[in-house]
Amino acid sequence: MTGVIEPSFRESVDLMFDRAVRLMDLPPGLEEKIKVCNATYTVRFGVRLRGSIQTFTGYRSVHSEHMEPVKGGIRFAMGVNQDEVEALAALMTYKCALVETPFGGSKGGLRIDPREYEEHELEQITRRFAYELAKRDLIHPSQNVPAPDMGTGEREMAWIADQYRRMNTTDINANACVTGKPAHAGGIQGRVEATGRGVQYALREFFRHPDDVARTGLSGKLDGKRVIVQGLGNVGYHAAHFLSTEDGAKITGIVERDGGLVNPKGMDVDAVRDWVAQNGGVQGCPEGSFVPDGAKLLEEDCDILIPAAIEGVINLENAARIKAPLIIEAANGPVTAGADEVLRKMGVVIIPDMYANAGGVTVSYFEWVKNLSHIRFGRMQRRQEEARHQLIVDELQRLDEHLGDAWSMTPNFKEKYLRGADELELVRSGLDDTMRIAYQSMSETWHRRDDVEDLRTAAYIVAIGRVADSYRAKGL
Ligand code: NAD
Repeated sequence: MTGVIEPSFRESVDLMFDRAVRLMDLPPGLEEKIKVCNATYTVRFGVRLRGSIQTFTGYRSVHSEHMEPVKGGIRFAMGVNQDEVEALAALMTYKCALVETPFGGSKGGLRIDPREYEEHELEQITRRFAYELAKRDLIHPSQNVPAPDMGTGEREMAWIADQYRRMNTTDINANACVTGKPAHAGGIQGRVEATGRGVQYALREFFRHPDDVARTGLSGKLDGKRVIVQGLGNVGYHAAHFLSTEDGAKITGIVERDGGLVNPKGMDVDAVRDWVAQNGGVQGCPEGSFVPDGAKLLEEDCDILIPAAIEGVINLENAARIKAPLIIEAANGPVTAGADEVLRKMGVVIIPDMYANAGGVTVSYFEWVKNLSHIRFGRMQRRQEEARHQLIVDELQRLDEHLGDAWSMTPNFKEKYLRGADELELVRSGLDDTMRIAYQSMSETWHRRDDVEDLRTAAYIVAIGRVADSYRAKGL
């Protein structure tokens, strides 16, 4: 089926939106207001590098300002274009509504291959891009708060925060202008792992719903499930690492830019990541057999497929050959609207991107709140909590001594119970809670209504409903 024409990424998102809206009862005109992207700013700027001026093109798109600030990552990749940032900004609106983070949707991108530049060059480029956005309030603690995405991470966020601070020297909330910063520079524990961690929590919650699991033909929990992951970057690595080391899942396939690795016995994800870091790709890694056409691995037999790299990788060309009964979209838009239709008819269950990768924005929300409150989570209550626990432990200890052999405390109980939660534990607890509640709202909509055929439509219905409520409350 070569040469099939598929809608663009943004059109795909709009088609999925339209599907959901047809099942809703929105006032005339509101549907269009929610769907359209409010504004996209394109910037072209020059940076003097290696003896000449190089011109770069970047975007910041604001999809919906029904809540402010708007939020969404900044991507550094050669494929960045207006259609892509608008699609990603729209997904951010729906994602924030679904997981109840109080933000509108935005997204940014810079057309650049970051691997081609030295660190000091990247810093110059990032700072210049940040300057262009900040001077138009497209980076701002109360209006527009970026975060990491493909090709960017803590380092770039630290440069952006510092650039904003230089331009706004008296803004006491300057740190809240961007999230995903390093922990030592205004960040929060657990942000780097957050999106992958969220994928893990999403799957755990899915497997707590036997009726939903039954639709895949799978049974039991995550233990022993065969997983194929595409993209061993921030999201893919953390998801695969946690699923294999904490839930007993087997990572039987890993796909990277240069090809894929297969091993039916499961691979050590950290060993593969170290190999990629040293060698630039998976080829030659002893953890599995190398497959040069990595994309073919998406069609391999497995229980759970995790696309965690780029959009559009499951499309009309390969959808019919997908064997996984369960796909969790760790990346944004990995399944095109056409493929979504094919897979739905095949009975494949898809846990949609808007929910599956919401762990990042959830923990970004915690970071933003921390920055605005100027205090680390747990700082006030941790020792007080420990002191109260100590009282109970002392009483139990007295009982222990009194009852002799008839009763004793479980080993380790004291240590575990006594310890008050630190920031990382609180962040993980908040993330787990968010992922559970959001899943339940989607699943409930999926089951309650016969006309809702899949989790994606359910997710859109919940999210659009909340955005609509917010517009109604403003009198629109
Ligand atoms: P990243 O740059 O850290 O990692 C991407 C990985 O995918 C890299 O290892 C890269 O080599 C690999 N890759 C790129 N193209 C590929 C291809 N064609 N085939 C196989 N592998 C390929 O990016 P990331 O932050 O992990 O983001 C991945 C996806 O997750 C994106 O869709 C992004 O929008 C989404 N996402 C990221 C976050 C976040 O917090 N970082 C949050 C939500 C969603």
